[in-house]
Amino acid sequence: MSEAENRTCYLDNNATTRVAPEVVEAMTPYFTENWGNPSAAYGFGNRLHKDLDQAREQVAALINAEPQEIIFTSCGTESNNSAIHAALITQPNKRHVITTKVEHAANIAYGAQLQKQGYEVTYLPVEPDGSIDLHLLELAIRPDTAIVSMMWANNETGVLFPIHEAAAICRSKGVPFHTDAVQAAGKVDVDVKLSEVDMLSISGHKLNAPKGVGALFVKRRTPYESFITGGGQERGRRGGTYNVPYIVGFGKAAEMGVIHLTRDIHRVRTLRDKLEQGILNQIKVSCRNGSHDARLPNTCNVCFHGVEAEAVLLMLDREGICASSGSACKTGSIEPSHVLTAMGLKPSLARGALRFSLGVYNTEEDVDYLLEKLPPIINKLRAETPGDGEDAAVAVANAGGAVVSA
Ligand code: PLP
Repeated sequence: MSEAENRTCYLDNNATTRVAPEVVEAMTPYFTENWGNPSAAYGFGNRLHKDLDQAREQVAALINAEPQEIIFTSCGTESNNSAIHAALITQPNKRHVITTKVEHAANIAYGAQLQKQGYEVTYLPVEPDGSIDLHLLELAIRPDTAIVSMMWANNETGVLFPIHEAAAICRSKGVPFHTDAVQAAGKVDVDVKLSEVDMLSISGHKLNAPKGVGALFVKRRTPYESFITGGGQERGRRGGTYNVPYIVGFGKAAEMGVIHLTRDIHRVRTLRDKLEQGILNQIKVSCRNGSHDARLPNTCNVCFHGVEAEAVLLMLDREGICASSGSACKTGSIEPSHVLTAMGLKPSLARGALRFSLGVYNTEEDVDYLLEKLPPIINKLRAETPGDGEDAAVAVANAGGAVVSA
């Protein structure tokens, strides 16, 4: 068996994370023994409420919220959609939404749908290093603005937005503020008591819980109307039979997330820095995308001029390495990342961008393995499509805020 067949080097933790064994263990009894419906009249079902309560407390603790401020959902996408929907439905005379050009599809696609329905959506631009000019937010807020929704951390570049400041601006203007903290929770300190955030989204599968469970924090007294109506679960704020095993697993993962934040995240940052420096030192005409400092500790987004990220990913896959590109294949053509193009990267350069995102289960061996395999892959692909060395260096140098290694 080849080395690659033997190992999986998983460097795509912003896409999803391994379910922690402790989480699987916590969930298992809710499939095998305690599988009742918490809304039932009999004890076999309704005694599970105490387990839901515990999970709610654990998830609330991760972001320093009150348990009653947590609504369990199916995912981060549902949480984002629900927050914006609630703001529009509870303020029917306000038909303007502000978000940014670099949000996850959960916001971008929802915004497009709202526009089709006649709402107005402003997508704030970003700077070349991925940061945001909050002056533009102030200018964009109008009397009919129903909500501002701005991500805490970008999933592609890891760039952090100044959420406390943005929330304060919105509060001063009386506009509800929602943040998508799907990538931030468990990686940086997310404390809803330190800021004026009204609603905040998180997702289980980004922090070692399973896919299919998320949460929306809704600050006490924030007007809220359900997106999914039904049997009155979640105190009438989200219908649908409680997904007990997943909610319990999410609770356990959130409890572990609090520990990871203090115990493991520095190690993850050190590994990320080693990986990034190694790439930039070893591979000519490469650059980092996104600001160096205001960034998630686990994310590294780099681009290599003269190669298609999809080709690199294919060759990395053959070595057992899982990473990702920001690009999406739409109707057969590779579209460059909307995040990188919003930062001003030329589409040709953005098509050569790769994201490596680390997690608590990564080791130094993973980083060393990537640094051994990646440079020859880039060299091989570049040799197959010899190009404009000089132009490439200039293009990379011009790529916003990027570090050039040539
Ligand atoms: N928001 C961000 C920033 C994300 O990275 C993701 C997932 O990649 C989502 C929202 C959507 O979360 P989910 O996959 O739980 O729907």
